[in-house]
Amino acid sequence: MWTPDSLAETLTQQLGAPVQVTFTRSRSTPVQAKAPTPGPFAQAGADLRLHTFFTEAPTEVVTDLAHWLRVGKRARAASQRLDAYIHASVAQLPAKTPRRIHLNPSGSHYELLPLLEVVRAQEFPDNFTAPPRDSPALPLPAITWSQQNPRGKLRSLRLGSYNRERNLVRIHPLLDDKLVPEFFVRYIIFHELLHAVHKSLKDTAGRWVHHSQAFRQREAQYPDYQAALKWEAKGLWTVAKKQRKQR
Ligand SMILES: [Zn+2]
Repeated sequence: MWTPDSLAETLTQQLGAPVQVTFTRSRSTPVQAKAPTPGPFAQAGADLRLHTFFTEAPTEVVTDLAHWLRVGKRARAASQRLDAYIHASVAQLPAKTPRRIHLNPSGSHYELLPLLEVVRAQEFPDNFTAPPRDSPALPLPAITWSQQNPRGKLRSLRLGSYNRERNLVRIHPLLDDKLVPEFFVRYIIFHELLHAVHKSLKDTAGRWVHHSQAFRQREAQYPDYQAALKWEAKGLWTVAKKQRKQR
């Protein structure tokens, strides 16, 4: 079992120049070598970033690694053995499991699931599948109160977000407050569901457009749109200040 220090020491001896080792979890680049100063590794030394599977590397692999550092691709046999070792090790790594997210749609004041259902039924009757019905429509996103850094800045407040990969709507817990009117929470849910329906696009300059013209037009037709903007401009600040005091 190698530690960064013991591996660095062995490689330093074999290379004849100082080697630093850092272990990483990068599967795409399990071996990265940089010279700390310009020049070949054999003179400048090397800063190595190696995948943690190198903690178990047999000594022959370490010798091959040092040889590869010394002469590069010209160390053909060593390079090939090293490649084979890296491929086999990456293949043996456990499959990546996406980080589980704990869904928490029940707030202390608002339940998000019934609100999601109201918005879906009113505004998106044909866009989403309501489980368990099977149709070519999009699966209805999951919804949760998000976890927020309590010291987060109010100015950069994001009241909701939509994650397409997870098909998940997150709502800022600031809105879980009796001072926040229900129509406003519904409007935020509506806005995030619109993101699920209207994919973000790139404009001609290659910049992401999250709120396209079609998005904005559809949003403006929402019955509570004006009321929501009005409340956001006035009421939101009061709620944020009140909650800040309570912390
Ligand atoms: Zn948006």
